[in-house]
Amino acid sequence: MNAPNYNKASFLLSVAELSQLPTDVGVEVAFIGRSNAGKSSAINSITNIKGLARTSKTPGRTQMITYFTLDETRRIVDLPGYGYAKVPLPIQQRWQQTVNQYLQTRKSLRGLVLVMDVRHPLKDSDQQLIDWAVACQLPVHVLLAKADKLSRAQAIETLRSVKFMLAQHEELVTVQLFSSLKGTGAGIGDAQKQLDQWFSKDS
Ligand code: GDP
Repeated sequence: MNAPNYNKASFLLSVAELSQLPTDVGVEVAFIGRSNAGKSSAINSITNIKGLARTSKTPGRTQMITYFTLDETRRIVDLPGYGYAKVPLPIQQRWQQTVNQYLQTRKSLRGLVLVMDVRHPLKDSDQQLIDWAVACQLPVHVLLAKADKLSRAQAIETLRSVKFMLAQHEELVTVQLFSSLKGTGAGIGDAQKQLDQWFSKDS
């Protein structure tokens, strides 16, 4: 199958309950990350559609699973941000359960894009997610987002150390620097290439 045209992405629906998910056929790739890591901005940059995913100055605001379609069989999924302290614990836990259940049961899920702020990589919740994904053989592509917030040397050093920490899983877990501010070295093309691979496998 050809690589999708990310710029053709369009909003499909937002759901609060797994029973409302679209039919589980075709291929989907889900974006996940701690609140404020830069996940929505990453979706907007990769599709080159401003405002497709809602970015927010108040992290944790959107607690829905949002679907964007690329074509009839392929979808991008925006999972709710986790680990935002201002969201009451019972709500966080309910969402954790919903997301876990989605991750465990969704047959069309081909890969996870895990977005981390390059200045705060591999928090416990990120590590748990990676361990879980590795245990069930689901590929993970890590975006070390907001790379423009560090000097080039610092960003490369962070990339090196995160790769080192994840080296035991290198067949399933890949890592790159990313910036939604576009420009050279933003890594948007690299992220698209990873998605191309997942989306190009037959469903
Ligand atoms: P989300 O909660 O993970 O979806 O994060 P958002 O995409 O809403 O981004 C959180 C904040 O970080 C917003 O104020 C964004 O403008 C900012 N941000 C996101 N990505 C980048 C980036 O690559 N570079 C910089 N400098 N800021 C970013």
